[in-house]
Amino acid sequence: MKRIRRFFPLGIRQQLMLWYSAVFAVLLLLAATLFYARFQATLDRSLDTALQLQAQQIAGDITPNADGTMSIQDATAELPGFDPRDQRQHLPAADVNLGVLVRVLTADGQLFRTTPTFHTLVVPAESISQPLHGQPWQGDITTVDGQPVRLYSRALTQDGKIFGVVQVGTTLSLVNTSLSTVGTVLLIVSPLVLVLGALVSFWLASRAFAPMKRVIQTARAIKAGDLRQRVPFPRAHDEVYQLTLTLNEMIDSLEQTFMRQRRFVADASHELRTPVTVIRSKTDLALLQVFPPEDYVGIFRAIHAEAERLGRLISDLLALAHADEGQVYLEREIVHLDLLVEAVAATVEPLVSEHGVALQVRTTSPVNVLGDEARLMQVVMNLLENAIRYSNPGGNVFVAVHAKHAQACLMVRDTGIGIAPEHQPYLFDRFYQVDPARMGIEGGNSGLGLAIVDWIVKAHGGSIQVESQVEQGSTFTILLPLHVAV
Ligand code: ADP
Repeated sequence: MKRIRRFFPLGIRQQLMLWYSAVFAVLLLLAATLFYARFQATLDRSLDTALQLQAQQIAGDITPNADGTMSIQDATAELPGFDPRDQRQHLPAADVNLGVLVRVLTADGQLFRTTPTFHTLVVPAESISQPLHGQPWQGDITTVDGQPVRLYSRALTQDGKIFGVVQVGTTLSLVNTSLSTVGTVLLIVSPLVLVLGALVSFWLASRAFAPMKRVIQTARAIKAGDLRQRVPFPRAHDEVYQLTLTLNEMIDSLEQTFMRQRRFVADASHELRTPVTVIRSKTDLALLQVFPPEDYVGIFRAIHAEAERLGRLISDLLALAHADEGQVYLEREIVHLDLLVEAVAATVEPLVSEHGVALQVRTTSPVNVLGDEARLMQVVMNLLENAIRYSNPGGNVFVAVHAKHAQACLMVRDTGIGIAPEHQPYLFDRFYQVDPARMGIEGGNSGLGLAIVDWIVKAHGGSIQVESQVEQGSTFTILLPLHVAV
């Protein structure tokens, strides 16, 4: 089968049709054989019963005489030529298909009576000896010219004593003709039924695959670039329905990824263009005329700040792009989260005093996690910078680390401006900013900070949650798997 398939690659419909036809052919062959065998057995049985009845009827009409001869009553009437006085006795033997086949023998095997046609039979000796031993005999014999005949022999008895044998026969030509007619019909009809079955199974397979065709057509349209298309659902909840569901889910996620990528590229180029524009306008200005040296310092500072922003943006973008491709290698070392938080808190001191907020750090020791120290430092730094930046002067920033239920819990809370509920679901999206205009003035954030935090936390097998109320403050909670020394 495999070899056939290699040379003649078959479609599913053709394969189904072949399988159906093969199974159908086997079933048809079985059914035809069974039917034929049963038909033959029934014919044989009815023939045998008829012969036995006839023999019994004749036997009932024969009685033994004291001198060893026999007397026959009525039976002769229906047996032409049976009576020796009958003129037909001396007629030439008729064809077995027309004549009657009856013979009566005495107990010592001598012929007592016979119909003329019986002479044409080739009778085996057991058909006489066996009944004489009390056992009826029946079997297929032939005439001298080879025509098949069924013969039945039985003993003639009176008070348990065997005094002769009666033999009746009938031609098998009729039975054989019926059998061969049925056989021929079966041989002609079976292939026709088989071909019809193959055609019907091909048609059924085509019908069953019609929904698949629709799926393929839609998939083709999608391949051409139209990701808004969806495969229409079939009415029945069958395999095609499942396939359609899976395909549609796949297209959904493809479309989303595609849209996200497109937005990401658009946002990235927009973000990159801003500092470049600022740098270009500053340099244009510096080249336009000669300024006093102190003005150049201002211009260079502004250019430096934009270049720094550009650099940060590029490294953030690269980190996220690599993360998308799964190319980022994360260290798996023991990180003392409590110490790390304290260290980061110390580095943001200048920002704290610049914004006039109070920073409070509370850690319990030890809180160890397995991960990348530099990346985790970035997480704490981004959260703390946001908490400080989005606080009002005089506000409080609180950072805590503790271990709870096999998890390390990092919490950064502020009493700042808060985030409205409608913005909260999008906080971790790339380039998402609640109020971009104000952020621009603030010093050029890009809206990538929380996206990076989210990616790092998830890459460490952790989760992040935010609770916030406008003008009340925000709390960011991160849970990471705790590393327990063994
Ligand atoms: P950005 O670089 O603009 O800070 P982030 O991804 O870090 O970008 O944050 C996305 C947005 O979430 C910010 O624009 C800001 O509006 C809001 N946000 C983040 N942290 C806080 C916070 N602690 N308090 C209020 N708003 C916050």
